[in-house]
Amino acid sequence: MQMNVSQLLKAPIGSTRNHEVSGTIEISGGDVGSKVYGEVKLLRTNRGILVRGTLHTEVQVTCSRCLSLFGCPLTLNIEEEYFPVIDVVSGISLSLPEEPGYFTIDEYHVLDLTEAIRQYALLAKPMKPLCREDCAGLCPSCGHNLNQGTCSCFPQGTAPPWSELSKLALTNHVNEPEGNR
Ligand SMILES: [Zn+2]
Ligand SMILES: [Zn+2]
Repeated sequence: MQMNVSQLLKAPIGSTRNHEVSGTIEISGGDVGSKVYGEVKLLRTNRGILVRGTLHTEVQVTCSRCLSLFGCPLTLNIEEEYFPVIDVVSGISLSLPEEPGYFTIDEYHVLDLTEAIRQYALLAKPMKPLCREDCAGLCPSCGHNLNQGTCSCFPQGTAPPWSELSKLALTNHVNEPEGNR
């Protein structure tokens, strides 16, 4: 996710460069790493470099209804300005913006997208993820995952309130476990 932008920093304001993004980053601490790919456009501004583009990734999330882990695809529309910490020609330290939360280009003129991608992915992550829209959830009595079939807790006539929904879900999806993301 790192790129050397010294040439672009030397180029006139308004110059652009496209950059293919492809790699793996750790989005939330301790995860296995998410593949990230896409393309960004780098634009030389009067202050630094504006990075814009659409990236794709997938994060592992836990279904809020059945607690199973599944991959949730995310689309990240990145738009961030990066500020160089030193002047590319003179090597003199540059003053940085007053407002916090900006990204920098280090003294070796390396622009690193990792942290921005991580932050955008965390924001894009759903708050209450569902492994599929009609996830049947867990049996309130035995905790059985009702997506995998019914349990024996509720004999005919004493069904839990959402059993009609889960029956529907099961008949619709019994043959297509992959198509539910
Ligand atoms: Zn689920
Ligand atoms: Zn049960």
